[in-house]
Parts: sequence; structure tokens; C-alpha cells
Amino acid sequence: MRRSYKFLLRPTVRHAIALTTCLDDHRTLYNAALEHRRTAYAKAGVSVRYGEQSAELKYIRAEDTDGQGRWSFSSQQATLRRLDKAFQAFFARVKAGRTPGFPRFKGKDRFDTIEWPRDGDGCRWDSQPEHPSATYVRLQGVGHVRVHRHRPVRGTVKTISVKREGSRWYVILSCDDVPAEPLPVTGKAVGIDLGVASLVTTSDGDPLDNPRHLAVSADRLARAQRDLARKKRGSTRRRKAVARVAALHAQVRRRRLDGAHKAALALVVGYDVIVCEDLRVTNMTRRAAPKPDGEGGYLPNGGAAKSGLNRGILDAGWGVFLTILSHKAESAGRELIAVNPAHTSRTCSRCGHCAKENRRTQAEFACTVCGHIAHADVNAAINILRAGLALREAARAA
Ligand SMILES: [Zn+2]
Repeated sequence: MRRSYKFLLRPTVRHAIALTTCLDDHRTLYNAALEHRRTAYAKAGVSVRYGEQSAELKYIRAEDTDGQGRWSFSSQQATLRRLDKAFQAFFARVKAGRTPGFPRFKGKDRFDTIEWPRDGDGCRWDSQPEHPSATYVRLQGVGHVRVHRHRPVRGTVKTISVKREGSRWYVILSCDDVPAEPLPVTGKAVGIDLGVASLVTTSDGDPLDNPRHLAVSADRLARAQRDLARKKRGSTRRRKAVARVAALHAQVRRRRLDGAHKAALALVVGYDVIVCEDLRVTNMTRRAAPKPDGEGGYLPNGGAAKSGLNRGILDAGWGVFLTILSHKAESAGRELIAVNPAHTSRTCSRCGHCAKENRRTQAEFACTVCGHIAHADVNAAINILRAGLALREAARAA
């Protein structure tokens, strides 16, 4: 199994300066290589390839020993490959008859990652293994940077990346041969409904994560963005407002990840079989336009709650959650089944009657035939579980 780990770095001031310089030099290299390709193409109609640029790197490093020469040859090659990928994607789109934008120069805010393609080559994970309590990663030209390693790393470290997010630095490890860690059998199955009021509701009636803290961050972010829009270009206040928006974005991402990890863990610990919605279908069916009710509010189709910024955040949240859940399920040896969510929210889980009138409000389900009353998300989760178990049964019979 392959998986990646992301840990917060704890750089000293000196490290942070070196990391910033390292990132900036990689960005300069990227932009110079892009400029090279552009002029060669514009002036001579020649396409420059990765191989040529990579060969030239040797001379650039030799002539600039205190600059580009400080960093890892391999991480610089990875940066050139990144540009090459951008060009390949560009040419593929041209070939497909579209008119794509030419690969762009990267501004300071648009270049945040350096990759070392192989552990031990210009970088070393766990560079001070004899240290009793702390973990370090050594990066060429930067030094041994302390890592907040909040969980053990399993498998073989393949690539090491460093990413800047706002004022924080992270190290991302991509590992191969990560052993699965099966959990004890529980004999239980569960259906889950992905929602707005709660990220996940189970068929047993448990809301697993309350994204209210996420909504608070989202509101703050929206306010910061409005604030930013009023600031004059080039002003100090604008620069500060930009930093605030970036920090809040990062906070939203962290909170979303944290909530998703906790909810996913609770599920794989508690159940052998987990049935969820097929998100590709969900996103298509749920993207209904909100209907104004004429009083400044919205009809209870969830349009208000599921639109705008909040909507975007939750949207991304479902995808992130299901990705995390599928990794955890695989690692724990659990079965994850995705089902088409059509009608699961309007079908009665007791008698099977399906009508949109069953759904009285966003939160309440009341069957117009048998009178069954339930929390709407729990009712949907039960239907999802049933659909998943039927699918499993059918697969076994086949
Ligand atoms: Zn019913």
C-alpha cells in the first residue's frame, strides 16, 4: 500500500530563512526555464525539452555556487520536470483542439512546493535517528529541520516534499509498502449520509462531526475576503488583508482535515462494512439551484445552506472525507461500498414510499403514507446502508 504523511515542520529562524530562499530559488529556476522555452519557441520555432534543460542545470549550478548551486540537483530536476508536465498538458490541450493558456510564470504566492524525488538524495528523512525524542529531516542547503511527527511513519519513504502554507512549513512523505493494520471484526455494518448540518450522519443515528467550528471559520473567511476587496492595491493594509485571508484558508483546511480524520477513524473502528454515497453522483444531483421563497429566505431545499462559500467548503469537505475514509478502510481491512444516492433522502426507510413531500424540512422526514417520522439524515443513511447491502448481496450471488 502507498500512502503519504504530512507533518508540520518546526524550523528555527535560520531554517525558515533558508527554506524561503530555497523555495524562491526553485521558483526562479522554474521561471527561467519557462522563459528559455518561450523565447526559443518565439524566435526560432524550437521546442526545448526537459533533457536539454536538465543538462544545462550543471552549468547553472557551477556558475552560481552560492545561489542555485546550494540546493539539491535532484530537487531542481524535479522542478524542471514540473514545468515539463505543464508544457505537456498545454500541448495535449492544443492537440485536442482547445485554446489553453500558455504555461505561466509563477509569482511568489503561486509556487509553494519543492520535491526531492528520492529519500537520501539531497534530503534525508529521520536524519538524526539517535535523538531520543525528536524527529528531523535533513534538507540540502537548509540543515536538519525538526519535524512535529504526530504519528509513526510506516513503509519505505520514497519522495520528500516541503510545502509552505501561509507562515507554516510542512514536510510531506510519500511512502511505499505501508503494511495494512487490520482492526478486529465487529460484525456491524453502517450507512452514512453526507450532510450540511453534520458532515456525516450514520444509520445508527450518530452525527459524527459537527462542522460548526468549520462554519465559524468560513464566516470569518468570507468577512476577510470582503475586507480585502475594499483595500487599495499596493497598500500595506492590503498586504495584511491578503495574509489574513491566506491564514484563514489554511485554518479552514486544517479544521476540515481534522474533523474528517476523526469521523473516518470512528467509522473504521466501529464497523466492518461502511456504505457511502457515490460522490460523483451526489454532486450532480445536489447541485440544484436554490429557490427564493420571496421573503429573502429560501425554500427548504437546502439551497441557502448549500450555496456560496459555505457550499464550496462543504463540497470539498465531502471529497476530502471520503478520500480519508477509503484510505483508512483499506488500511484497516474494512469494506467500503459506494452507492447511487438517488432517492435516498426522499424514500421512507420503514415502508419504502418515495415522494419529495416526505421531506418536510431540511432536518425532518415524515412519511406521508405510514407516518414514520425520523431525522432526515438518519433516514437517508438507513436507505444508503440498505442499498449497499443489496449491492453486496448481488455481487456475492453473481
Ligand atoms: Zn413510510
